This record gives sequence, C-alpha cells and structure tokens, in this order.
Amino acid sequence: MSHPVYHNLIGGAWVPAASGKTFLNLNPADSADVIGAFPSSDAEDVNRAVAAAKKAFITWRLVPAPKRAEILVRAGNLLVQNKEKYARAMTREMGKVLAETRGDVQEAIDEAFYVAGEGRRLFGVTTPSELQNKFAMSMRMPLGVVGLITPWNFPMAIPSWKLFPALVAGNTCVIKPAEDTPLSTYNLMQTLIEAGLPPGVVNIVSGFGPHAGAPLVEHRDVRAISFTGSSEVGSLVGQRAAASFKPVSLEMGGKNAMIVLDDANLDLALDGALWGAFGTTGQRCTATSRILLQKGIAAEFTEKLVARARKLKVGNGLDAGIEVGPQVNRQQIETSQKYVEIALAEGAKLLTGGRALTEGPYAHGNFFEPTVFGSVSPAMRIAREEVFGPVVSLIEFDTFEQAIEIANSIDYGLSTALYTKNVNRAFAAIRDLEAGITYINAPTIGAEVHLPFGGVKQTGNGHREGLSAIDFFTTWKAVYVDYSDKLQRAQIDNQ
Ligand code: NAD
Repeated sequence: MSHPVYHNLIGGAWVPAASGKTFLNLNPADSADVIGAFPSSDAEDVNRAVAAAKKAFITWRLVPAPKRAEILVRAGNLLVQNKEKYARAMTREMGKVLAETRGDVQEAIDEAFYVAGEGRRLFGVTTPSELQNKFAMSMRMPLGVVGLITPWNFPMAIPSWKLFPALVAGNTCVIKPAEDTPLSTYNLMQTLIEAGLPPGVVNIVSGFGPHAGAPLVEHRDVRAISFTGSSEVGSLVGQRAAASFKPVSLEMGGKNAMIVLDDANLDLALDGALWGAFGTTGQRCTATSRILLQKGIAAEFTEKLVARARKLKVGNGLDAGIEVGPQVNRQQIETSQKYVEIALAEGAKLLTGGRALTEGPYAHGNFFEPTVFGSVSPAMRIAREEVFGPVVSLIEFDTFEQAIEIANSIDYGLSTALYTKNVNRAFAAIRDLEAGITYINAPTIGAEVHLPFGGVKQTGNGHREGLSAIDFFTTWKAVYVDYSDKLQRAQIDNQ
C-alpha cells in the first residue's frame, strides 16, 4: 500500500535522512492505516540541521522583533483556517478524540497570538548608574541555535510552546519531534513557512531519541535545549547538556492528585475526575492519576465514578460520540498492563477496567479499558509512579492535613486539584501543595498558555513554559554608556 513519504527540513529544503533510513508512523486506532514514512535521522542529519540554523541566525537575529512577531500572527491566522484539517490529522496519528485535538491546535493558536505580543515587549531594565554621566540598562539577547525535543501527547501545542517564544526572541531552531507524532510538527512547520519564515530559521530532524535527539543535546553549536518528556529521559538530557554547559529546560512527568473534601460539590468533582483521569486517555503530564477522597464522601464518590467510568465510550477518536481514544502505541498498552499487575500484587482493588481491548473494532488498535483502583495506599507504586494511561487510583483519608501530606509524598510536583466549598482550606492548599499548578474546583488538566507551566521536584528543573518561556530563550546583556568623557572607576571614583 502506498503512503506519503516525508523528509527532514534543513535550510529550507525537504531532504531525506543522510542514511536514507525511514520509519513508519501508524494510526494507533488502526495499525493498518499508515500515516507516512518519516526520516530516521542520525548525527549527520543533526549536524546539517544545526549548520543551517547557525547560518540563518546571522540574519534572523537582526530582523526586528516586531517583524518576527508578525510572522507568528500570520501563522496563528493560518492555524485558525486549518484547525479542522490539522486536528483530524492529529487524531489519526496520535489517537486522542477530535474535540481534544482541536484543543491542541487551539493551544498553538493561542500561543502564536500571545507570544507575538512579546515582539513589542521583550522588556529590559533601565536603572541608574552609581556614577555621574553614565547610563545603565539591560537587554534581552537571543541565544543562537536552540534544540527542541518534544513528546507525542501534545504534538502541536508543545512544539508551539517552544518554537514560538524561541523565534520571537531571535533564535533559530532545530526541532526533533516525537517519533510517534512527527506529522503534527510538520503541519505546524508548513504553517510557519506559509507565514513567511525564512529558510533555515527552523529545521526539523525526525527520528528516534538516542539517534536524533542525543546528538542535538551534545552538539557544540547548540546553545540551549528545551525538552519535554519523561523524567527518565529528561535526566539523561540534563546530564549530557551539562557537559557542554548548555542551559536546559526540562518539563517532565507527573502523578497528579485531585483531593475531594467532604463539603465538595460531588457532581462537579465527578465531572472533573472523569475528565482529568480519562481525557487524552490519561496520557497528559497533568492527568489526574490519584484521587484522594475524604472518608465522608468516599463510598458514594467511588460508586458513582466507577459507574461513569464503565460507561465511557472507547474507540477511534475520529468517530462521533467517542470519549476515550487509543493509547499511542503498544508500549504504552504494555505499561498500563504492567501497572495493573503491580497494583493487584500490592493489594489494590480493581474496581473496573484493567484489560487491553482487543476484539472487534479494537482488534487493530491500542485500546485499554478505563481503569479504577480502590483501596490504594499512598506507599503503593500505583500511587507513586506515572502510568501515562487510563488508570486512576483512589486513596482515602481522614483530615485535610493528611490529604496534603499524601499529595506531597511523591517525587513529582506538576499539577494538583482541590474540590471544596471552604475558602480557608482552598487557600491553605494553594500555599501547601508542592506543585507547579493548583486548581480549585477544577480538574488537574486545563492549563492556559499565558500562565507559567511546569512543576517542581522530578517534574522540572526550575524553568517554566508559557509566561516565562522568554526568560529561557533569551540571555541578558548589561550595557553601560559613559558620557562623562573621562575614566570613571566603578566602586572607586564614587566613594
Ligand atoms: P520520552 O521521554 O520517551 O520522549 C520525549 C522525547 O525525547 C522524544 O522526542 C524522544 O524521541 C526523545 N528522546 C528519547 N531518548 C532520548 C535521548 N537519549 N536523548 C535525547 N532525546 C531523547 O517521553 P514521551 O513518551 O514522548 O512523552 C511522555 C512523557 O512526557 C511523560 O512522562 C509525560 O509526563 C511527559 N510530558 C511532560 C509534559 C510537561 O510539560 N511537564 C508535557 C507532556 C508530556
């Protein structure tokens, strides 16, 4: 069967991998549906892409930032026009339901318009000098060539979070998209090209992490790496980048807790739990994977959650009425299966789900039943480790203080949610939950692009996307202009 063949984008030209190797991108809902063949790149392709980006930087950095931003505005408008087409392509390559892939494209649109505003800001600071007739200010400068490595679960939104701020700040980019979802990055790139982005300013090398990602991290001409993915790979990337003193932004996994207090609006909490745990088939870094229930409502909440989880419609995300799409690949199914076994062995109680779906309409896809575990204790692995699938654990507690302690007792710190009508508890939780994001009366998923996005502990290394992405993609220059016409020595001549 014939399928499209895609190439890398290097210096404005679409070229195959130097080795000629390719890999197939398959529809996770139907493995017989081949999205296309993509280059399986290696160090040679990365070297060429970085060289192209380095050359393009010479002129791109001199384009006034408001002009760079105009390209993003045009790109945003083009994404609006192509939203449906790109969303459908994304569901086909990644699996999540159409409403969510529309949301993914919308996030890239929001990011384009939000970050385009930076073209007329990129504020520096002007401050008095300690010396007379001397002027002092600080400016943001681009870094140069930046390397971007992205995961598959938000295949257009996450590349846009990195590309758009990097570009408006004057950097040139080499992006290595996730091997499961390169097409959405290609679609984003087509948009930038149509919007007028000059050749070489963004280059794409597709392929596998160790072959195409690692050489980008190690390349001496790459000035910074922005990575989103698992904590395991993030740790490797951070260590490799450190060897050449590259700044590296790491956005990684989560084990996000929703706390439901006795006084919560239970129906609201149930809606939030269903959406947070099973939206994107549980494959969001912010997915609700632990639900902490106060004893007074635990039985009722559990019964209702299980009943609703059983009714969720699993299937091809392109079909109307489907609520939970496939997992992205076989490996993710195996991980879900593995954690079901671990949880059972640890004594958790399987309340619903727990199996891969393999019959009838599910025969050629990576489908897994929405799964709920009860009687989970905070020490169990199912309560501490990221599954990244439609699997949620219910943990009961007595007091609010216990809930905070349990929520904080893990190695991750991305998102948290509290359902309560008690404003005092709400503010105490905002203060005490160890996480980059806290929602009150809303699920753990649903970030907006203009707020800081990221987490603490093993979720991140201190950087944030969204609000402070510009901080990562620029470096400060301090500027002193002495107009006294004489040598003035700081810390000496003004004493
Ligand atoms: P992953 O870590 O397996 O891969 C992420 C990217 O890194 C891919 O492009 C991959 O090819 C590349 N890679 C793999 N090995 C590499 C290496 N040795 N050197 C350089 N690059 C390498 O993650 P994934 O499975 O694509 O995504 C799921 C993970 O991402 C989950 O843990 C999830 O929580 C996390 N995630 C985090 C955020 C966030 O912002 N915090 C957002 C989305 C996903």
